[in-house]
Amino acid sequence: MSRAKEESKFLLTYKFRAYPSALQEYKLENWLFALCWLYNHALEERKRVWKEERRTVKYSEQQNNLPKLKKKEPILKLVHSQVLQDTLRRVDKAFQKFFQDLERKKKGEKVKVGYPKKKPIAKYKSLTFSQVWMKQKGKLVPIIKLEKKNNRFAYLHLPKIGKLKIRLHREIDWTRAKTVTVKREPSGNWYVCISVEVDLDQILKEAEERVERKIKTVGIDLGVKHLAVTSKKDYIKHPKFIQKLEKRLKREQKKLSRKEKGSRNFEKQKKKVAKIHEKIKNARRDFLHKLSRKLVGRYHLISFEDLDIPGLVENNPLAKLILDAGWGTLITFTTYKAVMAGVKVVKVDAAYTTQECSYCGLKVPKTLADRMHKCPRCGIELDRDYNASIVIDKRGIEKEGLTHLTGGRVGATRTYACGEGTGGVSSKGEISYPSLKQESPCGSSGWSNSRQRVVFLPEAPSVRAE
Ligand SMILES: [Zn+2]
Repeated sequence: MSRAKEESKFLLTYKFRAYPSALQEYKLENWLFALCWLYNHALEERKRVWKEERRTVKYSEQQNNLPKLKKKEPILKLVHSQVLQDTLRRVDKAFQKFFQDLERKKKGEKVKVGYPKKKPIAKYKSLTFSQVWMKQKGKLVPIIKLEKKNNRFAYLHLPKIGKLKIRLHREIDWTRAKTVTVKREPSGNWYVCISVEVDLDQILKEAEERVERKIKTVGIDLGVKHLAVTSKKDYIKHPKFIQKLEKRLKREQKKLSRKEKGSRNFEKQKKKVAKIHEKIKNARRDFLHKLSRKLVGRYHLISFEDLDIPGLVENNPLAKLILDAGWGTLITFTTYKAVMAGVKVVKVDAAYTTQECSYCGLKVPKTLADRMHKCPRCGIELDRDYNASIVIDKRGIEKEGLTHLTGGRVGATRTYACGEGTGGVSSKGEISYPSLKQESPCGSSGWSNSRQRVVFLPEAPSVRAE
């Protein structure tokens, strides 16, 4: 395999819920205990040798000493040797980072430099099998096998742990699996993270070809009132169930603050709070994964505004809502799914997307309270966020130089007929607009037929004034 080919490869990590048996959980906890001990031991060794001999202990040295150490500390024998080695690699990484930070600081960069610290057992939460496949007599042999049970569950055959049940919520190409990490979350739930190698060149090549063939574009306006409004007139609401969970979290946190610190009830309540935290985190990720998957499955070119999210959050009373909405996460999820699916995601200039008229380009100033875009020049009336999403779509098309695919001009053809969609690029290659001043008969696109009814609620046609 040529070197250039190697360079286009990168790893993607997928996270799956795991359901260890009681015995497996006991084993995993024991491993974490042993690994935490090893981590701290290796760290101390490096520190001591530096102090006494003024030399840096290398990873290879610590790895070579493992058999001797195992004889002295039998608990290490319980753990698979790959996993032990990975822990030593973590120590190595911590030191490398420390030395790099030192270098950067010397160069005058603003970095916090911290000497690698010992870890308490509570903070040592994961263990990694650093190899899934192994070469044996020129053939690849799996060290870890994946056995599908049905279309929901599978077993991971982990050496020394046994058959670990996981919820396989998506397909993965096991022949390309590289590492498996087992992780315990603060709530006590277990997960496995599987990293899979992906060839970027291949995917990009396919993407280019697809873009050449035909193109469906969409612009997405991220907002507070709605999480997102698309130029295909999909109004995506903030998921209600997350809001409900947040209310519950607040209640339980209040309860926690009233409990005596360190008491049994305090610890119990703390776990409860952590569980809700994790639930919210997972629910939001899940929601954004689904949403980004839908976007990528539906369009070839997806345009977002290039938002300065940290900048927005500063001095902004809406900050919490913005963060909770997970705009950044949505863009990230969409971007990496797009890479896999051969779809292009572009970030366009965010200036005046709300003010610009999507039909004639006139800047129409608005206050936050103005929910409608009413253009005095061309007379168009649209929901403000919907108008912005069309502007974003146009900018994406222009940025990608695809205006030739859309009839040479973007957004300049007003069609009153209700075509395939309700706006965006029509099959004839024109940008069409939803019918004006009338109820849109095919108002929402296919998304509203989705089984997740809670998630995609189309709003009343945007031409009606609020
Ligand atoms: Zn106008």
